[in-house]
Amino acid sequence: MTNRGKNDTLKRMKQIVEVAIGLPIFKTFHYLIPERMKESIQVGMRVLVPFKGRRVTGFTIDLVDRPPEGIEEKLKEVEGLLDEAPLIDPQMLRFYRWISDYYIYPLGEVIKTGLPPGLQLKSERVLSLTQDGRNALLQGNLDPVQEKAFREIDRCGKTPLKRLLKTFPGEASRLQLFAWEKKGLLNIETGIKTGEIKPKFERVIQYQGRQPLKLQSKKQKEILKWLEERREVSCTELANRFKSPSKILQSFQAAGLISIIKREICRSPSVQPELKAYPKPEPTPDQRAILSEISKAIQSNRFSPFLIHGVTGSGKTEIYLRAIEEVLALGKEAIVLVPEISLTPQILSRFKDRFGGNLALLHSRLGKGERYDQWRKVLRGEVSIAIGARSAIFAPFKKLGIIVVDEEHEPSYKQEDKLKYHTRDLAVVRAKQADATLLLGSATPSLESYYNAEKGKFRLLTLPERIGGRPLPLVEVVDMKEQEGLLSEKVKVALQKNIEEKKQSLLFLNRRGFAHFILCPDCGFTFKCPNCSVTLTHHLKDRSLQCHYCDYKIEPPGDCPKCRGYRLRGIGVGTERLEQEIRALFPGTEVGRMDRDTTTRKRSHQQILKKLENGHTDILVGTQMIVKGHDFPNVTFVGVVSADTSLHFPDFRSTERTFQLLTQVAGRAGRGETVGKVIIQTFNPDHYSILRAKDHDFIGFYKEEIQFRDALDYPPFSRLINFRVVGNNEKRTKKAAEEMGRIGQLLLKQSYQKGIDLLGPSTAPFSKMKGKFRWQMLAKGKSFRLLHQVARELANRLEDSIKGTGVNFDIDVDPVFIL
Ligand code: ADP
Ligand code: ZN
Repeated sequence: MTNRGKNDTLKRMKQIVEVAIGLPIFKTFHYLIPERMKESIQVGMRVLVPFKGRRVTGFTIDLVDRPPEGIEEKLKEVEGLLDEAPLIDPQMLRFYRWISDYYIYPLGEVIKTGLPPGLQLKSERVLSLTQDGRNALLQGNLDPVQEKAFREIDRCGKTPLKRLLKTFPGEASRLQLFAWEKKGLLNIETGIKTGEIKPKFERVIQYQGRQPLKLQSKKQKEILKWLEERREVSCTELANRFKSPSKILQSFQAAGLISIIKREICRSPSVQPELKAYPKPEPTPDQRAILSEISKAIQSNRFSPFLIHGVTGSGKTEIYLRAIEEVLALGKEAIVLVPEISLTPQILSRFKDRFGGNLALLHSRLGKGERYDQWRKVLRGEVSIAIGARSAIFAPFKKLGIIVVDEEHEPSYKQEDKLKYHTRDLAVVRAKQADATLLLGSATPSLESYYNAEKGKFRLLTLPERIGGRPLPLVEVVDMKEQEGLLSEKVKVALQKNIEEKKQSLLFLNRRGFAHFILCPDCGFTFKCPNCSVTLTHHLKDRSLQCHYCDYKIEPPGDCPKCRGYRLRGIGVGTERLEQEIRALFPGTEVGRMDRDTTTRKRSHQQILKKLENGHTDILVGTQMIVKGHDFPNVTFVGVVSADTSLHFPDFRSTERTFQLLTQVAGRAGRGETVGKVIIQTFNPDHYSILRAKDHDFIGFYKEEIQFRDALDYPPFSRLINFRVVGNNEKRTKKAAEEMGRIGQLLLKQSYQKGIDLLGPSTAPFSKMKGKFRWQMLAKGKSFRLLHQVARELANRLEDSIKGTGVNFDIDVDPVFIL
């Protein structure tokens, strides 16, 4: 380093680092930077810091000269620097800060959500024997439990406490271990938990050319010839071919015949798209017009949000592909969000076909190692496109030019666990921060997005027709009040006709299992989950009663456990029962089923679709898994067994959801030459969500629904934040809920009384879930700023008063992002 450069570095060197810890704590903390790290530490790296007697991972978010007022003396030092280069660049940090602020969620935890799993280091307690302990073991005067435990520790050396307790469940207890430590027999220390995901390397032999060397053995000659043919080959491959080659390799290396290098290998995802060629079509006039609008936006380098409203099959995906091509040509990058990627192998294939290896796949069903490698490809700028479900929004691109959100209305974009973000809303924010183009596409846009388009916040682009002018299917509604049994005559006739004409059919029923629940008609008893406030679903195949929310599972008894009645019967039909009925009705036809139960194995999903694609399956029964993105020309009939399941869900969006589901299911019929036919069975034949879906009339539906939202003051006319307390203990949870209500009312009285309503506290729609009791309180208001202020204040005060009670508090900010 030149003197000048060195001086600059010295000037830049800061004394103190601000760290966001990867724990549920709102505050950030300051640490002293030890001399040895001063030159290397940067914002966006992971550090190991002491925290409450433990060592935890944190993220450096700022370097400063002075700590905030009044905490100088207490500062501890950073213990370790975990990265050589920042994992988080300033742009991403800004994005994470926004998320932390908006969702009222600790910054460290937000960053953790955005990084691939497995990058966290944790400390853990580690046991080892002291000399006294070892002596005691040798003398053999320990009780059996102690002897077993000590023998294990002696055998393993440093043994994680958790693992030891797991090895002997119910024997050596935590208390005993600490007692032994007190007696001086054991050491218990804090160590760093290993098992962090690391890059995977392989050793590669590179052939350097023939040098004069006297080859002695036949084997040497053979190997050299093999290497010469291949020029470059991994050591594993060589070892698979030749027995113990290492000596020979050494001699080759010494003679300069080969060199051996270490090279990182990329674990590629096991979710493979089917490789099929998708010809690149000339855009239609409609597509061309839209593309020229988008092109202007891309060239402008300014934030430009678009909502593309186009029926299924109208050519939206082709627009995404071309827009991305244009972005890449400018040397920029793209994020593509699709709901549940493994459900849409077709879309993935189209991207692979167009962009080859220039894309990374990011989503939660990949293995940890795969996810890490894919993510690093993005970080290093080795690919320009990231495609995936929710988590792809965190792809660490530095020159983001476009974000595409396909099926932007999909509820699965909302993360329901921990950080409750809405991917579509994050896409809006990230595109805005990056001055990028944003394409939201859907056949049934969310009310919020369409409202934003109406208000001019999004530019609305419309594709009114299917490609090739193929007509939308004819939809008929059947009133089930006048029907007996599960399937109406009309559906049976349509299925029969399709079988005869060798066409395929889909039957949609949004409930899995055999019977929804089991009832004793004599005493009214139903089987309930002890952990959740729901009934157990009957599954025939594995003879079980299952909870669909936790892992609870029992064998169904022969008679009623309450009154010993023997007439137990199943109520409410699921896909398993539907499949059975179809088989009985149409013997000899090939019936498939696609739901969570039939798709647990890794490739089972794709296998079921393959069978449909190659014409093997005549009738496919399924839950909403069959709704998404598949394009099967020979499917000409779709039956909706019950349109009512989603209609009665206790959520103000249930009407919208019903309309979306019906429209999407209907869109599966008639993608080929024949006009499709759809029959919707319902007990509510006059409901506008069903009638509008029948007419493929999104705008009509929007107009009616938006009036309801307005009248009832629901989003987008107001904003909602849901507060929830969750705890194992019923009484304490109730008490925390009451406290939440009290603080809420107090806050309203004190300062923000205008324009905010508090509803509740009351028990949540599912008052018990996975063994935890749940209460909630809803805050509703016009001004998001005020609402947010109340939420923050409530969080602060409540957190203090429920500390140590085992009750947790969480905040769910309703996804209505209005710019
Ligand atoms: P969407 O995403 O709206 O469902 P797609 O982009 O998948 O629509 O288009 C539907 C079908 O039409 C696909 O098979 C696609 O390959 C084809 N297609 C799209 N654009 C064109 C075009 N301009 N000319 C011919 N075929 C097209
Ligand atoms: Zn349960």
